[in-house]
Amino acid sequence: MAVREVLVFPHNKLRTKAKEVSVFDDELKTLIQDMFDTMYADDGIGLAAPQIGVDKRIVVMDVASNDGKSSEQIVLINPVITKKEGEVISNEGCLSVPEYRADVNRAEKITIEALNAEGAPVVYEADGLLAICMQHELDHLDGVLFIDYLSRLKRDRLLTKYKKYKKERNLE
Ligand SMILES: [Zn+2]
Repeated sequence: MAVREVLVFPHNKLRTKAKEVSVFDDELKTLIQDMFDTMYADDGIGLAAPQIGVDKRIVVMDVASNDGKSSEQIVLINPVITKKEGEVISNEGCLSVPEYRADVNRAEKITIEALNAEGAPVVYEADGLLAICMQHELDHLDGVLFIDYLSRLKRDRLLTKYKKYKKERNLE
């Protein structure tokens, strides 16, 4: 078990467009396990590789762990949203923007095509929390944070708040 450090906004590595994964080896499996360990340690339901400073298009999720009982691990590698339907307002938080939540517009239903940890193609048709979490995590792979959907004024306030937050905690 290896819990990695989750980067906190504002951090340059949260803003990079992550690279596609082409090698499916033991190193990748270790990284994926570390991502799950890190996500669970922080009580998250999703984590994208750029959040731990890894420049790769990998997302791990366990939306079911939200209720504290079950567990349903999902790994998405090089994921692409191929279909979006409807619209929903979701109240979101993010491990990289701690102690903050805001309403964001998302598609209600989505279809995602991706590869799993073995490199085999997978397709998910998702709605509800799963669909929202997927859209949030996929944004991370393109350097997009949920707070980017807020007004400029709110984002400027958050920038000030998190610069102070990080300074107080000696975070990079
Ligand atoms: Zn996030």
